[in-house]
Amino acid sequence: MALTGIQILKMLPKKNCGECSIPTCLAFAMKVAAGQTEIEACPYVSEETKATIGEASAPPIRTIKLGSGDSQFTIGGETCLFRHEKRFENPTGIAVVVSTEDSDGDVDGKLNRFNTLEYERVGVHMRADLVAVRDANGDGGAFKALTEKVLNTCPKAALILMTENIDNMKGAAEICGARIPLMYGVTAANQDAMAALGKENGYPLGVKGSNVDELIDISEKLVAAGIKDMVIDTGARTVRAAFEDNVVARRSAVKAKFKPLGFPTITFPCEIADDSMMEAMVSSILIAKYAGIVVLSDLKGETLFPLLLEQLNIFTDPQRPMVVQEDIYPITGPGEDSPVLITCNFSLTYFIVSGEIEGSKVPSWLLIKDTEGLSVLTAWAAGKFGADLIAQFVNKSGIADKVKHRDLIIPGYLATIKGELEEELPEWTITIGPREAGHLPAFLKEWKPSK
Ligand code: SF4
Repeated sequence: MALTGIQILKMLPKKNCGECSIPTCLAFAMKVAAGQTEIEACPYVSEETKATIGEASAPPIRTIKLGSGDSQFTIGGETCLFRHEKRFENPTGIAVVVSTEDSDGDVDGKLNRFNTLEYERVGVHMRADLVAVRDANGDGGAFKALTEKVLNTCPKAALILMTENIDNMKGAAEICGARIPLMYGVTAANQDAMAALGKENGYPLGVKGSNVDELIDISEKLVAAGIKDMVIDTGARTVRAAFEDNVVARRSAVKAKFKPLGFPTITFPCEIADDSMMEAMVSSILIAKYAGIVVLSDLKGETLFPLLLEQLNIFTDPQRPMVVQEDIYPITGPGEDSPVLITCNFSLTYFIVSGEIEGSKVPSWLLIKDTEGLSVLTAWAAGKFGADLIAQFVNKSGIADKVKHRDLIIPGYLATIKGELEEELPEWTITIGPREAGHLPAFLKEWKPSK
């Protein structure tokens, strides 16, 4: 039976040292109980306690980490079937495949697109995560050379080594070092040798069955052989079968605690569809329904971008608004005579307001007050964006040292607090800004300090 956070806390050393990246042992215990982190993250827990807690509290879908540093990539760790039940933990990885049969030009083009196609939305940098290196013809030298090229050319890529040939896998794996690749190509035929190689390197295994039943069989044998980290492939190569298998795997793991399917899945839209548009559609379906990784034949902006946006939407925590940090944000190099505006820290508000200020070409200071991610009116109604709190923030922010004037522009929706704010900030002149961010450019172009 699952342990509660309090039961887990009793077994922790209670140092509250934060070395697990969580400030207190209590918070850590709660996260372990909720399956959001693993007991291994605490370096002070004995092996015996790890075994006791780990078994009882591990998320039903195992967390798998690939790569390192800039290329680090995490999948799995999922605890629910539907996002609205809690949240989805780790976004589906988007991979592009390069093959030993691809021409040099094709490989270079794909790797270049992997490196350069990157987008920013609401402060989040979105890009593909992995490069899958496929051994297409059993040429171990070519496979190793292609792996080396990807390692050297794509520092942000986690690698998937795709071969069923033990020697070829060994040759490519030995040059990966800390860039922990996924060794994909474990089948019923080679599972013993691949398991030995996986244990020797400590790299996760990508396991492929010809159907769900065979996959379960291989998975059980690998677990019995001591393999913990796996990514699973049911062998489905039609969109319907891949969709159904993903649902079966997630449901079995989360609802029935069926361990042989309690691993993230890898899917291959590149082998399901013949053209890039269909591939993107298939990927979109599989991202929506539990794929841990989708492998694409190539990356193109027009198909990658919508997939990344879908990924961003699905994997955003529905219970926690996206926020930016409370701070002073200089926009286009403001000086001591530049206007000072204030708004909330709901990231959408920040990006819309800062975008309009940038578009106005009027250098400005934007004060972002922590409103716990609530928008202007909601924050005000919730008592998180009142005159007293704004005044406290303005006083401690240091903005008074950056400007000569004492003019503060507040959002138009906060017009009712103007008088109260003037009492709280007697040295400042409060100006009511526009209600809509779209009217900011015209407003700023007309703005002059009051004194
Ligand atoms: S590393 Fe261990 S002891 Fe330190 S805060 Fe985390 S759980 Fe507590």
